[in-house]
Amino acid sequence: PYDVLIIGGGPAGAAAAVYAARKGIRVGVAAERFGGQVNDTMAIENYISVLETDGPKFAAALEAQVRHYDVDIMNLQRAEKLIPASEPGDLVQVEMANGGVLSARSVILSTGARWRNVNVPGEAEYRNKGVAYCPHCDGPLFKGKRVSVIGGGNSGVEAAIDLAGIVQHVTLVEFADALKADAVLVSKLKSLPNVDIHVNAQTTEITGADGKVNGLSYKDRVSGELHHIELEGVFVQIGLVPNTEFLKGTVTLSRFGEIEVDAKGHTNVPGVFAAGDCTTVPYKQIVIAAGAGSTAALSAFDYLIRQPVA
Ligand code: FAD
Repeated sequence: PYDVLIIGGGPAGAAAAVYAARKGIRVGVAAERFGGQVNDTMAIENYISVLETDGPKFAAALEAQVRHYDVDIMNLQRAEKLIPASEPGDLVQVEMANGGVLSARSVILSTGARWRNVNVPGEAEYRNKGVAYCPHCDGPLFKGKRVSVIGGGNSGVEAAIDLAGIVQHVTLVEFADALKADAVLVSKLKSLPNVDIHVNAQTTEITGADGKVNGLSYKDRVSGELHHIELEGVFVQIGLVPNTEFLKGTVTLSRFGEIEVDAKGHTNVPGVFAAGDCTTVPYKQIVIAAGAGSTAALSAFDYLIRQPVA
């Protein structure tokens, strides 16, 4: 069995692997896709000490650092079930999609999250070519340009307020008949001079030319009329979904499906820790996930050294 088995190989899992391996214990990482969300990222300009990199380079660097240590990397492996120890101190088991079962004295869950897509023509085609999901990450790339934000919940309205300070103009489109965000955010948004808001607006297409976004089409759900806005960027803000479906019924999840963790990365299950975008940690960013991964590894080590000698 592993001393520490890490499920997920994004920034959180990679940081956990490095920290755990440096304790000289047996470490394994099983990941559906090593690197995680950063594989789908273009420019990364907010990882401290790295002025600028891109997703594939960053993912390769994560893997190289983990491979530098004696860590079993099991790439392209999906976990399907977590089986907590039957007695305190016993092994935790993880059932994999390939039929195998991995056992470990402690487990770190770092399965990340995925942005919910609007699923309209143009979204996939222009991803990273004007279609973006993270205002903290990609907002500055649209400095002085026109953008749209799809979604009028808290994240959409926060994104629109944030972007309005950077870009030339923001158009927020919301499917429902009203913005769902907190009233204080909505009034802040409405006070901004360079923001238009359309409710009852169903996005029908993200248009583009020459490999770049050039507009967004939406249908007014009341009049049925079709509209087209010319712009350079579209931020999709309709939800971030944690990859925790396989954990339902084993670890405590928040109502958004995030694994509930304390400041040290403990879940409610002894010997099971969690880190990164799959957890209740506030703000989903690479540097935050990496920090949380190291915290979880140190907590797992702390747990292991407190186990009675067999
Ligand atoms: P993830 O990166 O999501 O990694 C999760 C890992 O778990 C993956 O290896 C995945 O394959 C694996 N996994 C999932 N389910 C299972 C399973 N059942 N079994 C086994 N493995 C599983 N953040 C920034 O700080 N700066 C940026 O510039 C930036 N740009 C971004 C751009 C885009 C397009 C996106 C999508 C995100 C961006 N982010 C950015 C956010 C950042 O990528 C995430 O906060 C970060 O990757 C979270 O790391 P994580 O390790 O928690 O999860």
